[in-house]
Amino acid sequence: MSVDIDCVVVGAGVVGLAVAREMALAGHEVLVIEAGEAIGIGTSSRNSEVIHAGIYYPPGSLKAQLCVEGKHALYAYCESHGVSTRKTGKLIVAKDDAQIRQLEALLERGLANGVDDLRLLDREQALALEPELECVAALYSPSTGIVDSHALMLALQGDAEAAGTSVAFFSPLLSAEVIAEGFLLQVGGETPMALSCRLLINAAGLQAPALARRIKGLPQQTVPQDYLCKGSYFSCSKRAPFTHLIYPAPEAAGLGVHMTMDLGGQARFGPDTEWVETEDYQVYPARAEAFYSAIRSYWPGLPDNSLQSGYSGIRPKISAPGEPASDFLISSSQQHDVPGLINLFGIESPGLTSCLAIARRVRALIER
Ligand SMILES: Cc1cc2nc3c(=O)[nH]c(=O)nc-3n(C[C@H](O)[C@H](O)[C@H](O)COP(=O)(O)OP(=O)(O)OC[C@H]3O[C@@H](n4cnc5c(N)ncnc54)[C@H](O)[C@@H]3O)c2cc1C
Repeated sequence: MSVDIDCVVVGAGVVGLAVAREMALAGHEVLVIEAGEAIGIGTSSRNSEVIHAGIYYPPGSLKAQLCVEGKHALYAYCESHGVSTRKTGKLIVAKDDAQIRQLEALLERGLANGVDDLRLLDREQALALEPELECVAALYSPSTGIVDSHALMLALQGDAEAAGTSVAFFSPLLSAEVIAEGFLLQVGGETPMALSCRLLINAAGLQAPALARRIKGLPQQTVPQDYLCKGSYFSCSKRAPFTHLIYPAPEAAGLGVHMTMDLGGQARFGPDTEWVETEDYQVYPARAEAFYSAIRSYWPGLPDNSLQSGYSGIRPKISAPGEPASDFLISSSQQHDVPGLINLFGIESPGLTSCLAIARRVRALIER
């Protein structure tokens, strides 16, 4: 059977687009198939847009390696492609002695991950940076920043297309089968088609595990159980008095309700954590109550009735509620013995920061 396309990437989120760009620049003929009507309609448009420093993740984990590598690559890429970023810096704040010990552990972890610019600040030093902040100490990360994620995705798409990639919208991958020369794909949409390819990269985000279960010939024990963990955001009618991003000490399933801002300076608070069964993106005003108390632990000046429902995102978890957060799972033939197939599972935060490094890793695994 003839091979129609060399490499198919499923999903036009920030990771799929970065992978398509990387593979196209390496000389592969690439087709991106996207179920929706545009790029970035999934988690890539529903996040905090923070370029993470690489502090939180266990040393040696993919999250640690790819976040630190990805952060440097992303700042450089955005600089060279006219994509707006701002190195705002970030303060992770402690409200008691137990949390100071948490910050000390984060400082050590950050150092082990190669984040060598962190500084532990006492209350006075933190307040000198942010006078309206309430804390007993803070961990200062100068390399954390924010990025215009949509401009980033447009730049990645532009690079990929300039290197010969095509992006097909309204083209959901329904199922696939492992065949001798690669993969036979059944693509749905208005004009359903069968397609064959030699390389298949599953960057379907929340849908990646479900899609992998529809790949005939893939050992199913290599597909993790998936869980959805929603995070809601609220915006604030009053301009927040901070110039740095403000994070509480991290929680089990997320980083805690933090204050970030978009490049226009509009503050937003979130995301909280809510394990859900379905993709429901509505932000329920009743959740605001918990936001007021979480935010006032570091910003006592938050006025009453100032929060408005914003947007939400859903974390593509592969660890169950109550379990420690799992690492990114970049599942290649090493795991499943199917040459030419990469499944990207559990690409939650810091997936945006890591997108260019994930793409490099995928290419290296394919070329090995
Ligand atoms: C609340 C929240 C906050 C976050 N904050 C940050 C942050 O501040 N910094 C950071 O670095 N990371 C953050 N992240 C993580 C980051 O957003 C994700 O890691 C990243 O966006 C994942 O991109 P993706 O391309 O893998 O997935 P997605 O953006 O979800 O893209 C997957 C695409 O695949 C398509 N698709 C699905 N199934 C099919 C199919 N069968 N056929 C064809 N197409 C299909 C979907 O339509 C979608 O467009 C956050 C995540 C969440 C949920």
